[in-house]
Amino acid sequence: MPLVETEGLVIKSYNLAEADRIVVLLTLDHGVVRGVAKGAKRLKSKFGSGLEPFSVVQATYFQKDSVELVSIQKTDLIQSNFDAASDPDFLQKFSYLGDLLLTMSPPHDPNETLYRMVKRVETASNDRFDAIEHGRIFRIVDAGLAGYLPDWGHCNACGREFDDAETANLSDNFHLICPTCRRGAATRPFDGISRSIAAAARKLSPSKFAEFTADKDDALKALSIILKLIVSSSIGREVTGEKSLAIKTQG
Ligand SMILES: [Zn+2]
Repeated sequence: MPLVETEGLVIKSYNLAEADRIVVLLTLDHGVVRGVAKGAKRLKSKFGSGLEPFSVVQATYFQKDSVELVSIQKTDLIQSNFDAASDPDFLQKFSYLGDLLLTMSPPHDPNETLYRMVKRVETASNDRFDAIEHGRIFRIVDAGLAGYLPDWGHCNACGREFDDAETANLSDNFHLICPTCRRGAATRPFDGISRSIAAAARKLSPSKFAEFTADKDDALKALSIILKLIVSSSIGREVTGEKSLAIKTQG
């Protein structure tokens, strides 16, 4: 029964039995890990505030091959995000992100890029969160799907590279089709601005991305909705929290 020590982000935690809690961590070295923290609900718990959602912790746990839940021994708090966690708006956004993560990331499959991005979102100061939210969600989804997003630089039928002025059409499988190859009317137009945002999200840092998209709010929101559709379709059901977020972005 190996003892594992790794840095991790507390995605969520909830009560199990009288004194125990289930904790879901996104860890740096082992991806998503679900564990039991025995006695965590007791007043003088050894876990302290290291199980609060959004905390960054150094976690130590026992891993049994045959058991999905690990046994968490201790969590040393590296960074608390108590301020952010008390803001209902942040909670709602992060809860969406957390569900997205847990749905998309196979257990015990580490992804360092994904970890760093989520950590950046978790520890972002609140006033800047709105401006970069869409970009970050995009990048996280992109990293989480590990390149499964379609190549939006070329027509999926003839392979021709799009020029910036051209409006492509998004097909049912989320590939782009050029006007020449398209049959019938364009149902979901996807223009050069949307393609440039998608390309920018892959290569720019979150702050540069926020600058790049400062005057492209409508296109960014439209793209964000398409991404949620792609995620819903690839996991076969609607992501929890999606409805409330969609309503918000329409405002
Ligand atoms: Zn074509």
